[in-house]
Amino acid sequence: MTTARLLEQIYTRLLDHFGPQNWWPGDTPFEVMVGAVLTQNTNWQNVEKAITNLKDAGLMSFEAMAALDRESLAGYIRPSGYYNIKAGRLQNLFAHIRDNWGGDLAYFLSLPRERLREELLAVKGIGPETADSIILYAAGQPVFVIDAYTHRILFRHELVDESFGYYELQELFMDNLEEDVALFNEYHALLVRVGKEFCKKSRPNCAACPLEGL
Ligand code: SF4
Repeated sequence: MTTARLLEQIYTRLLDHFGPQNWWPGDTPFEVMVGAVLTQNTNWQNVEKAITNLKDAGLMSFEAMAALDRESLAGYIRPSGYYNIKAGRLQNLFAHIRDNWGGDLAYFLSLPRERLREELLAVKGIGPETADSIILYAAGQPVFVIDAYTHRILFRHELVDESFGYYELQELFMDNLEEDVALFNEYHALLVRVGKEFCKKSRPNCAACPLEGL
């Protein structure tokens, strides 16, 4: 079976089993961008609590959040963990957009994909997964987001070896799938779901998994 066919089959099986995941939860591109930073090294429930704090305080906008000092911002996002570090990362991102793009988030997110990635990766504390999550889910541009679940699942299905890095994995998807924002959105979300429920790091539950036998 070709890689393209196998990737298609993985997607079809996951979609049939789990249904659409409706990612990324967030009312606006700004909220999605903030969520992408807050979700680093924590689960989504903790991010939701931090986002609720920000919304309840009327701070879910670029202008309002960028005007906060680091200590105040850290206080609101405390439930997301590593709150001092994440407050710094958000401030770095806001400063980059304000200083280079006049604070025009919509324009910033409409930059061509490669340029947008370069800009995001130039911000201290923003790595490839966070940058690509912002590009796909906040900017709505086609890029495949890779995470630890993706690597584990593909490795266990012998599509990649352990040495594959972020961009090699990304190329595997992008070279073999149609460039499609909706497809990349759903596929990544489904891989996270199967990784959490079945393909756990400690022990895969293949017998019950929709990818059993592939
Ligand atoms: S749990 Fe088993 S069948 Fe499911 S994705 Fe992981 S290795 Fe594949």
